Amino acid sequence: MRALPLKAQEQPQRGGGPEIEDGRGHGECHAPSLPAPPSEAPPAPPPLLDRRARHARFRYPPRVRALENRLTWSKSRGETFDTCHRKYWWTYYGAWGGWASDAPEEARQAYMLKNLHSRWTWVGDVVHRTIAAVFTRLRDRRPSGQLDLDPDAVVDPEAEVEEVTRLMRREFRGSKEGRYRADPKRITGLVEHEYATPVADAEWKEMNRRAVEGVRGFLASKTFAELSTSDPATWFPFEQLDSFDFEGTSVWAALDFGRRTPDGAEVYDWKTGEERAEENTLQLLCYAMFVESKTGIPAERVRGRLVYVNTGTVHEVVPTESSLAGARRRMRDSIADMRRRLEIGGPPEPSKLAFPMTDDLAKCETCPFRRLCAR
Ligand code: SF4
Repeated sequence: MRALPLKAQEQPQRGGGPEIEDGRGHGECHAPSLPAPPSEAPPAPPPLLDRRARHARFRYPPRVRALENRLTWSKSRGETFDTCHRKYWWTYYGAWGGWASDAPEEARQAYMLKNLHSRWTWVGDVVHRTIAAVFTRLRDRRPSGQLDLDPDAVVDPEAEVEEVTRLMRREFRGSKEGRYRADPKRITGLVEHEYATPVADAEWKEMNRRAVEGVRGFLASKTFAELSTSDPATWFPFEQLDSFDFEGTSVWAALDFGRRTPDGAEVYDWKTGEERAEENTLQLLCYAMFVESKTGIPAERVRGRLVYVNTGTVHEVVPTESSLAGARRRMRDSIADMRRRLEIGGPPEPSKLAFPMTDDLAKCETCPFRRLCAR
């Protein structure tokens, strides 16, 4: 049992249905007023459908509603918008409803493509899932208030590392065989396989090495030693999507880890890529606002930590009145830019023409939507 100072609402799920902002590119976004994902039992298939068709119906339940252009925000959504307006449109509008059995082919394609990982984001995703699983195990084995559990008895770093390699081998094989096309949300797919991009074996091995080193480094770190021996009663829900209201717009956030401290709170963001603290500061300030909205702890007392798991570097962000004001300004501007595009392109449905393609062809080279853009 956990004491949950934050309201656990909506868990990102790997299943068909309205998209959820995963916050790290392996995710996405939907309006909170949308109906529940089509996780309810799908209608019975017509009697003449064969097994394969019935299976397909289960994976792709019928559409539940028409496209809506209700706007929410997250840092990753803002980044997608800034990268390419058309990419933003494919991700948040063009793919909408693409999980449904009767969706137009373009929407189904966009939905499948938006769920793909690049080999780089795949490494980050594997590391995040592994760390979340470790903390979940620690939390579940140590009910709130009991601090006498030795983390070493629950977490064997070498076993975790072996599991990372097993997982990556399994997901790599599934991706190569194209299994994700039947269930893009649940089954990991890699953009390199979808586009048959040549990648040397040595590079795939390097991806595994990075993930293994990230997990091994994190489990040996001072940060893990400190957090794993702290009281789970102080931990916030981690890797759970939730939102808060920002000037009338829902903003989505999913903490990698967070906890109450005697003088406020701490939020953590695990990083597997290059050390770019400046770029990630907005995310931590956004988390501070999120924690304030859920717990009442003032955002200025929510310290952020970017933890680069491969190098061990920890970059601390201490919110100030001025940095929070700057973050709010950036969020406000980003939301206003998105809203302006929607006004140009809608209603009833936001037209892709209002979201132009980037002129920077280098961005298209690795974009999952390049087939749909004919780039
Ligand atoms: S292929 Fe290029 S133009 Fe099309 S969405 Fe991707 S980045 Fe934008």
